[in-house]
Amino acid sequence: MSEPSIFTRILKGEIPSEIIAETENAFAIRDIAPRAPVHLLVIPKSGEYRNVVELAAGDPDLLAELIGLANSVAAEHAGGDFRLVFNTGSGAGQTVFHVHGHVLSGDLTESSLG
Ligand code: 5GP
Repeated sequence: MSEPSIFTRILKGEIPSEIIAETENAFAIRDIAPRAPVHLLVIPKSGEYRNVVELAAGDPDLLAELIGLANSVAAEHAGGDFRLVFNTGSGAGQTVFHVHGHVLSGDLTESSLG
C-alpha cells in the first residue's frame, strides 16, 4: 500500500485545511501556496486515481462531479469565470499524485499555472 496522499490526510483531518465545499465524492480546499488571486483545489475523496487521464478512463462520472464542484466553488468564491488546470505528470509540475484540479480566477497574467 502506498502512503496516503496529503489530500487524503487533509480529508481525514490529520493536516489542517478548511474544506470549503464538498459533494458526495469530492471536496474543495484553498491552495496553501496560491498562484492566482483565487486558487482553489477540487479533489476526489478517493486517492485511487493519480491523474485526470486515469480518472477520465476509470470514473468519468466522478470527473464530471469534480468539474461541477469546480463550477460551484468558482461561483461562490470567484464570481463565476475560472480556469481549471490538471497538471499531469511531474514534468508538467504535478507534485501530488492524487488527482486534483486547480481552480484559478482573478487576474491570471502572473499565474505560473498557465
Ligand atoms: P500539483 O503541483 O500537484 O499540480 O498541485 C499540488 C498543489 O497542492 C500545489 O499547488 C500545492 O501548493 C498544494 N498543496 C500542497 N500541500 C498542501 C497542503 O498541505 N494544503 C493545501 N491547502 N494545499 C497544499
